[in-house]
Amino acid sequence: MPFSQKELLRYSRHLALPEVGLDGQRALKEAKVLVVGTGGLGSPILLYLAASGVGTIGLIDFDTVDETNLQRQVLFDMNSVGKSKSSVAKNKLAALNPYITVNEYNTAINSDNALEIIKSYDIVVDGTDNFTTRYLVNDACVLLGKPYVYGSVFRFEGQTAILNAPMEDGRRGPCYRCLFPEPPPADLVPNCSEGGVLGVLPAMIGSLQATETIKQICSIGKPLSRQLMLYSALDLDFKKVNMVKDASCAICSEHPVITDLQPINLSCQVETEDETVSLITGSALRKLLEKGQPVQLLDVRNDDERKMMHIGGRHIPLDKLEMMTAADLKYFDKQAPLIVYCTAGARSKKAIIQLQKLDIFSELYSLQGGLLRWISDVDSALSTS
Ligand SMILES: [Zn+2]
Repeated sequence: MPFSQKELLRYSRHLALPEVGLDGQRALKEAKVLVVGTGGLGSPILLYLAASGVGTIGLIDFDTVDETNLQRQVLFDMNSVGKSKSSVAKNKLAALNPYITVNEYNTAINSDNALEIIKSYDIVVDGTDNFTTRYLVNDACVLLGKPYVYGSVFRFEGQTAILNAPMEDGRRGPCYRCLFPEPPPADLVPNCSEGGVLGVLPAMIGSLQATETIKQICSIGKPLSRQLMLYSALDLDFKKVNMVKDASCAICSEHPVITDLQPINLSCQVETEDETVSLITGSALRKLLEKGQPVQLLDVRNDDERKMMHIGGRHIPLDKLEMMTAADLKYFDKQAPLIVYCTAGARSKKAIIQLQKLDIFSELYSLQGGLLRWISDVDSALSTS
């Protein structure tokens, strides 16, 4: 596959690096990389792989762009809001580098399509940062023998590694299940919108994922395949911890118990059916308030979130509430319903489980979907007030 003069000029800074050179650039052009997710991690991964000249890039996303994405998902701008992420991303990459092919998959990756999509690519880079996709893509990569470039971000910290990577002895490096054999219980998975993430953090982790991908393609340097990189933005600290292959790993050991792709039922959202916590919808709450019913509201978000917007009631951050006794809450009317709210409905549920232990309230409800759903269903003006 010869390069045109324009391509040679375009990649001249790569060609000037002896470690990359024409051979490396050709390897990039011939490489096929699948990037799952076009969000916070996917954006820098895709932009740099396209700019670097990776010849075939597949991108998967089923979502549409919303305004809260723009704090970190740098593929998108105000004109993208409401549009399909995969389609905006494809157009952006095509405009950035016309010498590459971009395959768009406007779908969610799942156990029915993962093997079919992944099998056409050499390397898979995970930009979705959720447990369901992570186990699914890990398993598919092990079954198909593809390297899996993993990344995740949470609040101010991130991690990355290249898993199931080819080793010098012809075997494969550790996979994600070697490190974490089973997905965590759904109620321990942090909710993305609840947890928060520093906007620039995915740029750091995503560009490390892109770097490892390019090193793998060009066969240069030391791959991050036996160590997990941990990064803390607040401490500006990079740490590498050793990863070892688990001889009894369920999927990548010599006697695997997982031999085909299974659906994994877990998501980043913790708002699942929970029989012990009663939910109230935003519109039902509004009706109660309009009728002047004696309801009490409790906001369990942190101080800064409270300052930005609220729908009234008392404010006790969840971490403080968890330290409180029944006596600390004596100013509440124990007979009137107490409706607890937060941003997306996860912390309010935890608060209710805590309040149930104190056994002082007759009726407790969690505002379903939190203020985010309140804004979309009941009062869109709240977010701009
Ligand atoms: Zn394994």
